[in-house]
Amino acid sequence: MKGTPAYEALGQALDAQRERLLPCVHCGFCLPACPTYNRLGNEADSPRGRLHLIQAVVEGRLEPSSEAFRTHIDRCLGCRACEPVCPSGVEYGTLLELARETATQAVPPGLPTRFLLKVLGTPVLRIPFFFIGRLLRGTGFAALGATVLPSYGPFRAVRLGLAMLASTRRWQLMDSKESMAGIADSGSLDISQKSRVAVLLGCVQEGLFRRINSATARVLEANGYEVVTVGGQDCCGALHAHGGDLESARTLARSNIRVFEASGADLIAVNAAGCGATMKDYGILLEEDPDFAQRAKEVASSVRDVTEILDSSGLRTGASVPCKIAYDHPCHLLHAQGVERAPITVLKAVPDAEVHVVAGAEECCGGAGIYGITHPKLGGLIGGDKVSAVRACSADAVATPNPGCMMQIGAGLRLEASNEGVIHPVELLDESYRRAGFYRAGGVE
Ligand code: SF4
Ligand code: SF4
Repeated sequence: MKGTPAYEALGQALDAQRERLLPCVHCGFCLPACPTYNRLGNEADSPRGRLHLIQAVVEGRLEPSSEAFRTHIDRCLGCRACEPVCPSGVEYGTLLELARETATQAVPPGLPTRFLLKVLGTPVLRIPFFFIGRLLRGTGFAALGATVLPSYGPFRAVRLGLAMLASTRRWQLMDSKESMAGIADSGSLDISQKSRVAVLLGCVQEGLFRRINSATARVLEANGYEVVTVGGQDCCGALHAHGGDLESARTLARSNIRVFEASGADLIAVNAAGCGATMKDYGILLEEDPDFAQRAKEVASSVRDVTEILDSSGLRTGASVPCKIAYDHPCHLLHAQGVERAPITVLKAVPDAEVHVVAGAEECCGGAGIYGITHPKLGGLIGGDKVSAVRACSADAVATPNPGCMMQIGAGLRLEASNEGVIHPVELLDESYRRAGFYRAGGVE
């Protein structure tokens, strides 16, 4: 609250960002790129409008606890579609995280957000949380609940949450019970030219999509990279940063910096776009920390999306996997990291996979953490448009390299009783390599 040391400290933190606000020339080029502005038509729900509100708080003309500031900052998806179209290079994502921190210190976020951030940032809570999630998924309870629960009142959020959980299942085309360990055939690869790569395991990814982490390590090894195991990893802090809990995000970042530094890896491969975007920004997150500022920059400079690594040095060709795939860009890969081609290249490297980019693929799916639960109307509108665009492709599966997007689109398809699978691009490449006999059978996935 105003007058307290915490409030003053936050005010100073946002004040220190004045320089990041200055480049905005209020041209409005960012408005058409903004999903919330496009749906609501309200300037205060546009990037420019939100920057005006942040400026007003910095200058003391508006209280961070005011309804206007909290509502419009909270309604932002954090998709960063406004950044690449800005001619002045306004660092909107960084400003948004600071604004969220200021707003949530003034008035704490709702219980679902606080619960999720607490669980994801605490291993002793995270492990049983995801165990229960896998149990609900494995027993079919999640799928059943998503089918039979009504879509109104308090049931709506539960139904959506269960549909998101059910959508994390492996796509049946790749529903092989056979697990694989190591590389049986490294072909004619010159392994000496390749880097040592550590794989970020992540929290949601390791909790619900461990198969994607396994596939990531396998396809990297199959392409000649040495994959080093890094113990002691933590959540990357992405959801904490996006939710305004920057102190927790910094604590998690420091913990990861220590273990990745000690690993001696040349590169850190990330298979979740939101995590990659946050880790590439570790230097900004810790720029005021004298012990970690330089170390954070160095670790951040070694972070790559796994598809960037695979695309950078040519891909081995595996066996045919006949299928039609719709590709959708995660915002935190396309807008925040500027990676557009690499995941499509990975998909197109699979013989007989027909790849179509979804119409409007550059627009947010409405996932944004648990936006669909905290903003049912607007999140439902944005998510509904994405599901329609995916369905228009008449594909067998949709591919998108981010767990939040996989769950959001997967839940939308499931709730419309649509049969498309949901995959990460490396899963398809992994299946192609498995069919080509690149792997030894056995091992634990
Ligand atoms: S953020 Fe960039 S694009 Fe948007 S109004 Fe400011 S200068 Fe223009
Ligand atoms: S991050 Fe996305 S929702 Fe937020 S202002 Fe920018 S374009 Fe709009």
